[in-house]
Amino acid sequence: MTARILDGTKLAAEIRAEVAAEVKSMAAEGVRPGLAVILAGHNPASEVYVRGKVKSSEEVGIYSEKHTPPDTVTTAELLSLVAELNGREDIDGILVQLPLPPQVDAKKVLLAVDPAKDVDGFHPMNVGYLSTQRPGLVACTPAGVMEILKRSGVSISGQEAVVVGRSDIVGKPMAMLLLNANATVTVCHSKTRDLPGVCRRADILVAAIGRAGMVTRDFVKPGATVIDVGMNKVTERTEFDRFFAGNRKREETFLSKGSTLVGDVHPEVAEVAGAITPVPGGVGPLTIAMLMANTVKAAKLRREAGTVELMRT
Ligand code: NAP
Repeated sequence: MTARILDGTKLAAEIRAEVAAEVKSMAAEGVRPGLAVILAGHNPASEVYVRGKVKSSEEVGIYSEKHTPPDTVTTAELLSLVAELNGREDIDGILVQLPLPPQVDAKKVLLAVDPAKDVDGFHPMNVGYLSTQRPGLVACTPAGVMEILKRSGVSISGQEAVVVGRSDIVGKPMAMLLLNANATVTVCHSKTRDLPGVCRRADILVAAIGRAGMVTRDFVKPGATVIDVGMNKVTERTEFDRFFAGNRKREETFLSKGSTLVGDVHPEVAEVAGAITPVPGGVGPLTIAMLMANTVKAAKLRREAGTVELMRT
C-alpha cells in the first residue's frame, strides 16, 4: 500500500483564500483585522518565521506590524510593549515569537497578552476555553492538524487517536482537540512504555516529538492516518542516507542547500499508512494559515464581546 499524501500546501492555500474573503467582507463594514508580531533579539530561524507571518498577513489583507526590541530587552520593557498593544483598538492579535532572549521571563510575558488577542492560543484562559469547549483561540499547529483531518475526510469520531508528545503548544492542545471531536485519545511521552505497541493501536497517529524519523513502520497500523508535526534539519550524509537513500529529488536539495527537512516520521511509513502528511509541505503551511484565521476570529470575537458589553450598559 502507498499512503495518500495529505497536501498541507494546498489546504493552507484554501484556508488563506477563505480568510481573505472574510477580511474583504469585514472591510465592507469598516473593520480591518490587525496583527502585531513581537520579535525580540536576533534569532535567524525566528526571523524567517516572522517574515512568513507578515507576508502572509499582507496577502490576505490583514494589517500587520512588527516590533523588534533588541537582544538586551528586559521583561519590564516587553511587558510595557504588550500592555500598549493590549490597549490598541486597531490590533486584534498579538504574537510573541519564541524563544525570547534568556534574561526575559517568557511565561510572564505570555501571561500578559490579553487572552482576547492571544492568537497563538497559549494563554491559560484560552487553554481553559479549549478544555471546556467554549469559544476561544486555539494554538495554530494543532488547529491546523484538525483542518487537515477534516478537509481530507478523515473520520475522527470514535476513532483511536494516539498523540506522541505532550508539549503545551502542540501535544496537549492536539489531544484536547481530538477528544473534543470524540476520538478516543492516548497521549504518549518519553516515559511511555512500549511506545511502538501503543502507537500501533492508532487509527490516527500524531507525531510531535522533535526526533528525526523516530516513528518507523513498526509503530503504524496498516491503513492508519499519520500526521507528522516534526521538523528536523538533516545535515549529515549518513543521516540523509538513513531516510532518503535513492531519493533523487531530495538528494538535489541536500547537495545544493547542505541540508533537508525530515519529520518525526520515517519516510518508510508511507508504505504502510493509509494517509500521511509530508515534510515539508504537510503541517507546516497550516500553522501560518491558522494564525491568519485566528486573527480574523479574534477580531470577530472581540467585536461580538464589545456588542455584548454595549448591550449591558
Ligand atoms: P517539545 O516541547 O520538545 O516536546 C516534545 C515531546 O516529545 C515531549 O512531550 C517529550 O516527552 C516527547 N518525546 C521526546 N522524546 C521522546 C521519546 N523518545 N519517546 C516518546 N516521546 C518523546 O516539542 P514541540 O514544541 O511539541 O515540537 C515537536 C516537534 O514539532 C518539533 O520537531 C518541532 O519542530 C515541531 N513543530 C512543528 C510545527 C509546525 O508548524 N510544523 C510547530 C511546532 C512544532 P516528555 O514530555 O516526557 O519530555
